[in-house]
Amino acid sequence: MNIHLAEHFGMCFGVKAALRSINEIETSGGVTVLGELVHNPVVQKQLVEQGIKYGSPEKIGEAESGTVVFTAHGVSDNTRRGWSETSLQVVDTTCPLVKKAHRSLECLVLAGYLPVVIGQRDHVEVRGLTGDFPEAIVVLEASDIDAIPEGVEKIGIISQTTQPVKRVQGLVDEIAKRFHGAEVRFVNTVCQPTRDRQQAMEDLCRKCDTVVVVGGRNSNNTKQLVESSRARGCDTIHVVEPGELFKDRFANSRNVGVTAGTSTLDETVEEVVETLRGFTVSSSVLATELSS
Ligand code: SF4
Repeated sequence: MNIHLAEHFGMCFGVKAALRSINEIETSGGVTVLGELVHNPVVQKQLVEQGIKYGSPEKIGEAESGTVVFTAHGVSDNTRRGWSETSLQVVDTTCPLVKKAHRSLECLVLAGYLPVVIGQRDHVEVRGLTGDFPEAIVVLEASDIDAIPEGVEKIGIISQTTQPVKRVQGLVDEIAKRFHGAEVRFVNTVCQPTRDRQQAMEDLCRKCDTVVVVGGRNSNNTKQLVESSRARGCDTIHVVEPGELFKDRFANSRNVGVTAGTSTLDETVEEVVETLRGFTVSSSVLATELSS
């Protein structure tokens, strides 16, 4: 059995930077993270053990004394202003690529486009975008396009940074088709780490019969990797931790791919690879660079 690591996998630079910032905060005054920092139970447990609490970015002022932290996927400018007017210390770990999505939407609105955001309405990043532009129409399925009013002349589209590229392009094409009389402008704000991981998954599926996806069950991008692998016909195994792997499951596997969502720790991926290696003495790790 050969083990192949995806060329790009696991935590992105934005989430790593946010975790680093949190670990550098003096916690004695209390730290409240506004939103879920990473959808990973291993990391969540570590943070809870450090005494870190969780709150909602929209509940301005509702936190214990000390420091509040905006997560990598940001908040609206209104929310940011609101928290800065409280007596709490604010640490902003918003990823630069999320800030870019905010600025792109702002530019489109200023240029007179009806704003459309492709993404999940309840995701913290989309809530941040619609917090500043409540008129924005959120589209995740083709049926959501019905909310765009007939006769609109200019439609400006951006995407949540972590949406699958193919879904986004399909929805943009559908909007352009339905509103062929309108000027449709699309600014592609799917972030590069998301694109890289999706492309790496496609490459992995070309050479593997089995794929192990490592990541939280509540992690959206991990689920997307699982779906993507299944859609390409790979026997796909989703695990949160290496203890969920069983040797018998790989009895018919010749080439096993390993990838991980953007909230998965490198250490967890290393442990998964070590466990798989232990399943066979003839296994070989073909791509051992554990960095994305
Ligand atoms: S997934 Fe992309 S946008 Fe989100 S934190 Fe990572 S790099 Fe930034």
